[in-house]
Amino acid sequence: MASISWDSKLAAVAGPKAGKIEKAFGYTTVGDLLRHYPRRYVPKGDLSDLGALEVDEHVTVIARVVSSDLRVYQDRRRGGSAYRLEVVVATGDQELMLTFFDKKKHIAEWREKSIRPGMHGVFSGKLGRFRNAWQLTNPQTQLVSDDAEAGLDRAHDTWESQPGLMTLYPATSTVQSWQIDRAISLALDLVEDVPEPVPPAVRLAHGLVGARQALTWIHRPDTAHDLEAARATLRFEEAFVTQTVLARRRAELAALPAQARTGLAGGLLDRFDQRLPFELTQGQQEVGEQIMADLAGGHPMHRLLQGEVGSGKTVVALRAMLRVVDSGGQAALLAPTEVLAQQHLRSITAMLGDLAAGGMLGGAEGGTQVALLTGSLGAAARRSALLDAASGAAGIVIGTHALLEERVQFADLGLVVVDEQHRFGVEQRAALADKAGEVRPHVLVMTATPIPRTVAMTVFGDLETSTLVELPAGRAAVQSSVVPVRSQPTWLDRAWQRVREEVEKGHQVYVVCPRVDTGDTSQEGESTSAAVGQVAPFLADLLDGVRVAPLHGRMPPEQKESVMRAFADGEVDVLVATTVIEVGVDVANATMMVVLDADRFGVSQLHQLRGRVGRGGHAGLCLLVTSAEDGTAARNRLAAVAATTDGFVLSRVDLEQRREGDVLGAAQSGARKGLKLLSVLEHEEVIVAARAAAADVVDRDPTLAGHPALAEAVRRLDESELSDYLEKA
Ligand code: ADP
Ligand code: MG
Repeated sequence: MASISWDSKLAAVAGPKAGKIEKAFGYTTVGDLLRHYPRRYVPKGDLSDLGALEVDEHVTVIARVVSSDLRVYQDRRRGGSAYRLEVVVATGDQELMLTFFDKKKHIAEWREKSIRPGMHGVFSGKLGRFRNAWQLTNPQTQLVSDDAEAGLDRAHDTWESQPGLMTLYPATSTVQSWQIDRAISLALDLVEDVPEPVPPAVRLAHGLVGARQALTWIHRPDTAHDLEAARATLRFEEAFVTQTVLARRRAELAALPAQARTGLAGGLLDRFDQRLPFELTQGQQEVGEQIMADLAGGHPMHRLLQGEVGSGKTVVALRAMLRVVDSGGQAALLAPTEVLAQQHLRSITAMLGDLAAGGMLGGAEGGTQVALLTGSLGAAARRSALLDAASGAAGIVIGTHALLEERVQFADLGLVVVDEQHRFGVEQRAALADKAGEVRPHVLVMTATPIPRTVAMTVFGDLETSTLVELPAGRAAVQSSVVPVRSQPTWLDRAWQRVREEVEKGHQVYVVCPRVDTGDTSQEGESTSAAVGQVAPFLADLLDGVRVAPLHGRMPPEQKESVMRAFADGEVDVLVATTVIEVGVDVANATMMVVLDADRFGVSQLHQLRGRVGRGGHAGLCLLVTSAEDGTAARNRLAAVAATTDGFVLSRVDLEQRREGDVLGAAQSGARKGLKLLSVLEHEEVIVAARAAAADVVDRDPTLAGHPALAEAVRRLDESELSDYLEKA
């Protein structure tokens, strides 16, 4: 048979099945198929003598389906109907009962249709005894064919081709595991050029086997040891190629020229520091120095600043902006929402005082101006903001997406600050950076969503990272509790009473609801959750004398702004809001938050929300109201949030619960395509080692001219969806 290459069309090994495999998994080449790793390995047992087997032993059998019978019964524990498919299979002259339990009718029926008498299959599971007969409950099933004779041959093929461990592949209703198995066997035999992207020296240093060996062992392991070696090698390879892409991106960025912004003695920054009403934390100082050093360099800064809510990132960013303004440039601050942009404007102009009144009566000598540019500005205000940005009169321009529009121009954009990065993609960062003209601006990205280190390395791998770990002094802890309204219905009344007490003490309260109004989800007959539109009037009524106001994203921008301002000025006691307040909203006098239907929110989101209270040195209280039952995943999630305020711990809980794929964003399929064995959560050591190795290779050979296989792997990854996912996450 003719030899084939890694890039040969799938049909070369899969024949007429190629189309179905492509449709099911998106594979088009032999190489793609060889990257379809087994889902499970089952040790091959010997079933010739069922009598010698013991209960709880794990067995795998090839057998013919003799009968299959679907039964409906009442599930006493859960209530309602449940389904039990009883399948009798024969192997040699022995019979074995397989029992499959299903809760959903359509699944049970599908299963009955797919396991028909006469078919052959490989079944594997733990052996049990039931009514004096051997039985497997919910066994792993790999059906072979309903063409009886050919089926048995194929079952034996599958069985014989694999010594020791037998592999089961991820399969679909149209492509069976054994069909994939056959194509892979052929591919392993025929493929000539398995790519070897990891250079020999790196392989040696990390105890990896060769790429072909690893592929052979992952598909056809003889021993558990082979399998582990194969996995370790392929995992490292994935991490290494990803990290090489990122190392090259960092190197490319680092090679670009940027204008050094070295500041001005006695300038705005110095004057700002002198009048700062508090001491910078040590973390703020250190990160500040890193940033000042970056800004003074001749290459663009690309730095990610992580820090818990309330850790004081804005001051750090503002100091960087002032350094740039002192150097004759401008700074843009990109905020994810209108509310947040307005809040930044308020707090930055307040912190700057007369330093922000440049060119105006009463402004400080050498002061600058701060402009706001958002989508909702009136025509006149917009024109003047555009003019201030273009003329350079505004040293600092704060805005939302509106800043990205084409007609927004700057005289000399030196620094772009992006707040709450998770809301923006790299494209938007880039669109803003492009406004700097020929020379790249410095970029500082801020996020309060703590990201585990390895996720940061993978997802934001082109950025240098700084972290503010401590909170400013005087930041009080937020005490959190779960309020289970099903089991403790009176606790909710008590919660509203606490709200009143808090207001009587002169403090303010947030009440957060998952929905804006009744109309949105109830049509489906789905159980509805608390809505701002109902809760606000209810509370106004219940807590008479307390000033209650609603806030949500569907209100016109001016109205939102005026409600926010009234709350900030203490004219509203209780703000009933959706998650519009999630990021950045900063009212020091707010000490309590009640989150209704808290189980509707994710862990990180609750943590963000809770960060809105306890900001002013007064102890904070956060009540997580839920009707989820004890012991459910939702309740466990809330218990985790109540138990710790460590954002890094919570972000792990969050990732583990949601599975990385979801977290890493929409281009999940891309992630799957590129990262198969590597888990950014579980394989921290591999990622760290691969990152160092990749940086070293790129350092010595920036164009990868001496590493053609690596260069090729990098080129492919760069072109693939994975790079989209890296960028969009
Ligand atoms: P975040 O990191 O969430 O963006 P902010 O920058 O909004 O945090 O800071 C939260 C509050 O803490 C602001 O009111 C800010 O003025 C104040 N703050 C910042 N740094 C300090 C500090 N070193 N000491 C005391 N208060 C500080
Ligand atoms: Mg902030």
